[in-house]
Amino acid sequence: MALLPEGFRFSQGSLATGEWCLRRFYLRYLRRLSWPAAADDAGEAKERGAARGRLFHHLVHQHALGLEVEALVAASKDPELAEWWSNFKHHPPVGLPEGEVFSELELWVPLGPGWLTARFDRVVVGQGGRLCIVDWKTGRGLPAEYLASWQTLVYCFVLSEGGSLLRGGVPVEPAQISLCYWPAAFPDQVQWHRYDRTQHDQARERLERSAGFLAGLQTREEFCMTEDLKRCASCEFQSYCSRGAGVGAGWEFDEEEEEDWGLEL
Ligand code: SF4
Repeated sequence: MALLPEGFRFSQGSLATGEWCLRRFYLRYLRRLSWPAAADDAGEAKERGAARGRLFHHLVHQHALGLEVEALVAASKDPELAEWWSNFKHHPPVGLPEGEVFSELELWVPLGPGWLTARFDRVVVGQGGRLCIVDWKTGRGLPAEYLASWQTLVYCFVLSEGGSLLRGGVPVEPAQISLCYWPAAFPDQVQWHRYDRTQHDQARERLERSAGFLAGLQTREEFCMTEDLKRCASCEFQSYCSRGAGVGAGWEFDEEEEEDWGLEL
């Protein structure tokens, strides 16, 4: 019997994890274990960065709702957050269409035995039929590094399959979708990605293959440890696998993905 529960919600984080290490997928999404960052300088810096990223996303969402946020920025007494906020105000993504803005939007579409979910920071539905995804990047990675990621694939696929909900049932053509990664610290390094039908067909094939593979694993042993020990160096589950010194710094997950354990709760 498959270990994946019925109705499992795949996400970009879980799919990336499954590709990286099956045991990590098992520990994180099936046993639902979390592990604190290492209690050292690197771990503390990661925790602080994650908290700052969460707050920035919260501020942008509040702003989209028309709420006043300047006082919150000032109250944080965090110069890095203040700089990000200033960048957001003075160097927003250029090239977005005029239209309806959806902030902190979550969509699900069917995938194999379960669902595929995407949590968008922002989707702009343009009057001309264009749909733009905007993702605020507050982590260490550069936007160009995300272009070939599971995030790009999953976000574009889900919006293409489920975006008709945002425009009165009118279907979405893949070529109407674009995605913008906007780095809060380097707003001049924005990366755009244009989606199309060929990518969509390839994405469907890859998603169904990956989800089907994970859903077909039936024992704990089949969720095996990666043979690439370098991957363990940053993994927070080292102590479960008797690898490494005990606790790695952990992956830089999308903050909202952190709350998504892949189960219908
Ligand atoms: S420590 Fe290595 S084998 Fe264990 S879950 Fe992490 S990446 Fe996988």
